[in-house]
Amino acid sequence: IKNHADGQPSHSELEVLAGIDLAVREGEFLTVVGPSGSGKSVLLDIISGLASASSGSVRVGGELIAKPSRDVSYVFQQYALFPWKTALQNIEYPLQIRGVPGRERSARAWELLELFGLKDFAHRYPSQLSGGMQQRVAIARALVPRPKVLLMDEPFAALDAQTREALQIELLRIWNALKTTVIFITHGLDEAVFLGDRVAVMAARPGRIKRILDIDLPRPRDADLRASNTFNL
Ligand code: ATP
Ligand code: MG
Repeated sequence: IKNHADGQPSHSELEVLAGIDLAVREGEFLTVVGPSGSGKSVLLDIISGLASASSGSVRVGGELIAKPSRDVSYVFQQYALFPWKTALQNIEYPLQIRGVPGRERSARAWELLELFGLKDFAHRYPSQLSGGMQQRVAIARALVPRPKVLLMDEPFAALDAQTREALQIELLRIWNALKTTVIFITHGLDEAVFLGDRVAVMAARPGRIKRILDIDLPRPRDADLRASNTFNL
């Protein structure tokens, strides 16, 4: 692995991942499970361009990813919102750094606030929001630049069971609406099977994809997702 985050590439003696050959379909919801240390997070770091592999390549829509890519958004377990910005300002931020004009920025941020049922929370600061609400804002912020791929690293792990279930349902509803390709890491096999079209199972030392399970269960229809969206906070 080479780290890009600190700008100072460091090589690791440790072979973390080997023989990873993964094709994710456009619009697919892929979940990834595997033991701690199997390289799930490193895999997403490489896909996002935050780190790079000592050999091999990553392509999104045919284009090579070599450094943090604007086509790829990342959501972490820790929401990593700017505490000094409101929900609305947090969601606008990725558009701000891309130079999108104020009016369009605001319109697109409000679209996402609406989609996430967050309109009444637009002017609140992260500290004034529950964990579930903060993660909704973080996901909205990741989606606002319309990435081709959304990477999620155990995004609901810190939430209580009820909030997690509400967020899972909401994420599916939003994924249905936006058709973004999602790669979602989780420790919960139930969550992996509920959310995923396919589940990649990783094994450790060095990390590899042991098998990919096709989930052949009917998905809840959009209308059902809407009806069961109870916003338990
Ligand atoms: P968890 O389920 O606990 O989050 P994980 O599957 O996400 O585990 P990773 O964090 O991807 O595991 O780590 C895989 C291995 O790579 C570990 O042995 C870790 O110590 C090592 N590792 C992680 N990041 C780096 C890095 N930037 N450079 C070198 N080694 C790393
Ligand atoms: Mg991890």
